Amino acid sequence: MMLHKRPARPDAFVTKVAAEIAALRAAHERGEEPKITKAIWQDFKAAFSAAQHGRCGYCELPVVAGQHGDVEHFAPKAAVTEFVNWEAERGRETADLAKLTGRSPSKRLPAGYWWLAYDWTNYLLACAVCNSVWKGNLYPVKQPPVRGNPDEAQHETPLLLNPFGRRDPARHLRFGIDGSVEPLDQSDFGRETIRTCGLGRLALVQERNFSTTSAFGAVQQTRKELAAGVLPEDSEGLADLHRLGRLGAPFPGVVRAIIRQELGPLTWQQLDDLFGEAVVPVDLRRRQPA
Ligand SMILES: [Zn+2]
Repeated sequence: MMLHKRPARPDAFVTKVAAEIAALRAAHERGEEPKITKAIWQDFKAAFSAAQHGRCGYCELPVVAGQHGDVEHFAPKAAVTEFVNWEAERGRETADLAKLTGRSPSKRLPAGYWWLAYDWTNYLLACAVCNSVWKGNLYPVKQPPVRGNPDEAQHETPLLLNPFGRRDPARHLRFGIDGSVEPLDQSDFGRETIRTCGLGRLALVQERNFSTTSAFGAVQQTRKELAAGVLPEDSEGLADLHRLGRLGAPFPGVVRAIIRQELGPLTWQQLDDLFGEAVVPVDLRRRQPA
């Protein structure tokens, strides 16, 4: 998981949702349950896919390369659920499948955050497994939780990390060499995001394994080189880490988190300044005709 820049809200979106927002508010004022009927957000999936480089905002797996993907509502639009005990939460994963059974959260709010159904800042692209199998209508918040009221909800702090949020997931998630993940420094945001979106699910840990093993190997190589006096710009370990953490690599957010946790205060920006394409020297004189 990593931070992305939220796409700008198009005027066409504002025009399209105006009537729906007015209808929801009117229903609420009449004391009726607001009914969300038009999935207008799906028309704007490309904007979120472009901003997230086609990847799920939670697990980083490629979405549009192999499936339709969902425009996910960060705060659930139609209901909110929560876990009442460990047995209800745990569920059972099926080996070699994305299937999860026996996970049964209880309903907390019947109407959910209906006022955020057509809010551009409440969207992100997510894969079907994070969105439908794991997160569903879960939305952990710092106590006390909202009571279905837009005014009270303003003061709520969600405990989920958001790929368009202000908290860097690398400061809340700690990855192991085997692909496992745990909260960094007992972060509540890390813990709740892992348990809600299934970031520790077996198949995902397995999928991350190649990237995490490679990243930790490159960290070890870097430490050896730097101890031997090799300059950072000549370090093969650092060059490998840059390759593993670039946007086209399988799990760039995971690798950038490992760089931070193992080699901090080194930052991704510093590594990108050293090895990014933008600084590859080009000798223009050689391109001039003789
Ligand atoms: Zn996902």
